[in-house]
Amino acid sequence: SERYTYLKRDPSFKKLSQEDIDFFNSVLPPSAISQDEGDLEAYNVDWMQKFRGQSKLLLKPSSTEQVSKILKYCNDHKLAVVPQGGNTGLVGGGVPVFDEIILSTANMNSVRSFDEVSGALVCDAGCILEVLDNYLAERGYIMPLDLGAKGSCHIGGNVATNAGGLRLLRYGSLHGTVLGLEVVMADGTILDNLSTLRKDNTGYDLKQLFIGSEGTLGIVTGVSIMAPKRSKAVNVALLGVSSFEQVQAAYKRSRDELSEILSAFEFFDEASINLVKKHLVAGNNDPLESSHPFYVLIETSGSNKDHDDEKLTQYLEGLLTDEIVQDGVVAQDTTQFKNLWSIREGIPEACSKTGPVYKYDLSIPVPVFYDMVEDMRARLNEAGVIGEDKDVEAVVGFGHIGDGNLHLNIASKRYSDEVAKVIEPYVYEWTAKHAGSISSEHGLGVFKSPYLHYSKSSTMIDMMRRIKKMMDPQGIMNPYKYLPEEKK
Ligand code: FAD
Repeated sequence: SERYTYLKRDPSFKKLSQEDIDFFNSVLPPSAISQDEGDLEAYNVDWMQKFRGQSKLLLKPSSTEQVSKILKYCNDHKLAVVPQGGNTGLVGGGVPVFDEIILSTANMNSVRSFDEVSGALVCDAGCILEVLDNYLAERGYIMPLDLGAKGSCHIGGNVATNAGGLRLLRYGSLHGTVLGLEVVMADGTILDNLSTLRKDNTGYDLKQLFIGSEGTLGIVTGVSIMAPKRSKAVNVALLGVSSFEQVQAAYKRSRDELSEILSAFEFFDEASINLVKKHLVAGNNDPLESSHPFYVLIETSGSNKDHDDEKLTQYLEGLLTDEIVQDGVVAQDTTQFKNLWSIREGIPEACSKTGPVYKYDLSIPVPVFYDMVEDMRARLNEAGVIGEDKDVEAVVGFGHIGDGNLHLNIASKRYSDEVAKVIEPYVYEWTAKHAGSISSEHGLGVFKSPYLHYSKSSTMIDMMRRIKKMMDPQGIMNPYKYLPEEKK
């Protein structure tokens, strides 16, 4: 991509040779190795088609031992490696920047064990999130995380990015729900910490370092995670709201009145739903009678349907009476339930239908949350770049209100340096000024790494560099990403 030309290939990394290929052939069966350009294309380019590498080799090990042999060899020969799960990441972390070897976890996809009493699930890193959720549904359990990319993303990728998503409000982050990890370190050492214990205060909690490390410290090969019981009664409602103040009022009240059954509180603006209507099937059935500046999607999950229905009805009636919301619909069956969710979950896809998206995933104090979107719209308008025949199609805001996480997406028809300069570094400065985070849940990858200092002090960044050097002294794990380039 045009924007990453400042990065130069580190010449100290070895270039792939026939000897290397011969070694990998001795570890993996022929079906798990590819040098075919056609095969590699899907692995070299990210989901948004924004980041592109030129890897010449794809490896798909099916066991931890194979991963260990591969990494040991790469470390001994200083071959750079990029771990890849479902390749749904949004910061260019899972695709190579240059010719790094792609190590995909796609063939590591078995459930290792499930404890029906505690809910501890132990599985390979390449299991697809939705497959795991279906596996658990059959047993009355649920994955503690859910995201729009669930049909493709791997649990290892989720752990590596510390994915947040739609259930974080209810079940907390992976830093709490992951019970243990099995990780292959850069030098091939297998770190077996696949504990299923809820409580374990014996020494430094090493697994936490890998949660959110984006493949820069080692490869996650196994995950132990705590699955909650699946709620018997689930409701979803979509509300039309006239101002962002009222979105906040509805949220505040939901914590009082829905409290323990509240399982999601998502919001999106009119520009978001307009894009879904324009580009996706999900937008064909308008769920509400008229348009509104804001929409709120609320989900409740509990154990007693009558009790939940009563609570939700009372809550919604109160909102309508007090004119906090203007309109609302509660899903009456599973089809409607899925339809309402698919509007919210379809927003990222709808944004990318016309071309590149400038994506920002920000933690911002909720009271000033939407000011960010309005300020950005005003700036882009002032620069004269939004409109029919202009570069930018729409500026949309959506996200996880309950987590203070705004997704600011600038859907565009083409990439332009002029637009990028209007957005950055303004968006980061604005976020830093409000003591927010420049990456709530998508991570840093190659996209956000140069801006880390907007959210972390130099002392913290220095400590991160020391950890990286200790765990991956050769620097072979996912280079050029995560930490800003060191000034030489
Ligand atoms: P990849 O994209 O393959 O890789 C992501 C990073 O993890 C890379 O740096 C890669 O090197 C590293 N990695 C992957 N596997 C491993 C491993 N086994 N060991 C070590 N490192 C590894 N994210 C959210 O947090 N919340 C959301 O709500 C959300 N919604 C999304 C909706 C859509 C439509 C899309 C496309 C993406 C969304 N994302 C969301 C972003 C993305 O899905 C998550 O970041 C996801 O966790 C990535 O998983 P993956 O398997 O696709 O990883």
